[in-house]
Amino acid sequence: MIFPGALTDPFHRRIDYLRLSVTDRCNLRCLYCLPPQGFNGSPAAELLSDEEIARIVSIGIRLGIDKIRITGGEPLVRHGIVELVHELARLPGLKDISLSTNGVLLAELAKSLRAAGLSRVNVSLDTLNRDRFKRITRFGELDDALEGLQAALAAGLSPVKVNVVVMKNLNSDEIEDFVALARRLPVHVRFIELMPIGESGFFSKERWLPLEEIQKRCGVLEPLDDTASPKGFGPAVYYKSPGALGTIGFIGALSCNFCRRCNRLRLTSAGRLLPCLASEQGENLGRALRSGATDNDLAGIIRKTVHEKPEQHHMGPEQNKMREAFMCALGG
Ligand code: SAM
Repeated sequence: MIFPGALTDPFHRRIDYLRLSVTDRCNLRCLYCLPPQGFNGSPAAELLSDEEIARIVSIGIRLGIDKIRITGGEPLVRHGIVELVHELARLPGLKDISLSTNGVLLAELAKSLRAAGLSRVNVSLDTLNRDRFKRITRFGELDDALEGLQAALAAGLSPVKVNVVVMKNLNSDEIEDFVALARRLPVHVRFIELMPIGESGFFSKERWLPLEEIQKRCGVLEPLDDTASPKGFGPAVYYKSPGALGTIGFIGALSCNFCRRCNRLRLTSAGRLLPCLASEQGENLGRALRSGATDNDLAGIIRKTVHEKPEQHHMGPEQNKMREAFMCALGG
């Protein structure tokens, strides 16, 4: 029997977190993520069904995965997303189900997602300015995303985190506005360094703002230890501004040792299992499953992928070759 024993990679990191991209389609076209025309993605027939996802997750649980994040593309455009959350939430052994969204459809879905068993949500929001929101997302409406954020708070999803990708001369003048947002709302704003990933060709060293610079622009912040930080299992380090309802976190994708505490695998919507965000290859769990693989065979693929986790990614600000992959297929 292949199941006993936790998943530990060759660098002694315990792997207990799976990010599931449930669609590669998105209702926005963020400048740094997608080209204006979007991308064709996988044929619909390749997308994993709810049952296939649930089977993979339950095998993962038997191997020690106890947290999942549903992502995309935009997960809320997947038909039947509430039912999928409900099905996954019922799997015994999962401690945490979270979801990453651009928030645009969250106002109508937050309550049902909460009722279906979703614990918490991350809303990606790079600007608080209406015109700029349209420019960055190419056609989104800021008010929809803000209503989604409020609906998440009202529905009792907790914690609610706001992910801000910081880009020089595009939204870097709003860092203080986001710090103020975390002062007046119980949300956890996380500033994220831009990464050289995506086929939109947007990344350049001139657009990349190092974490140190982002931190300097936040003003006075008090460090929080792990016990006072919002619940989560990712790479952010958290601070609080005096008297604030929320917190401020930083994710240095390029300038910090982002990988040291990596605890995750990524499953694309077409069933490819990736050991790292920067991986070029991954075993196709979906295809194996459809060709009649047993649970033991699938568990073997998961173990092999964990064994292949690199010690760290090799993306850097000087990189002139982008990692040619769509974040919407990888799940961010
Ligand atoms: N649609 C969902 C959302 O907006 O959160 C989930 C998918 S989206 C690809 C996941 C995250 O990846 C978002 O927070 C987005 O800002 C981030 N992302 C995409 N491309 C990026 C890049 N080149 N550098 C940094 N973050 C990126």
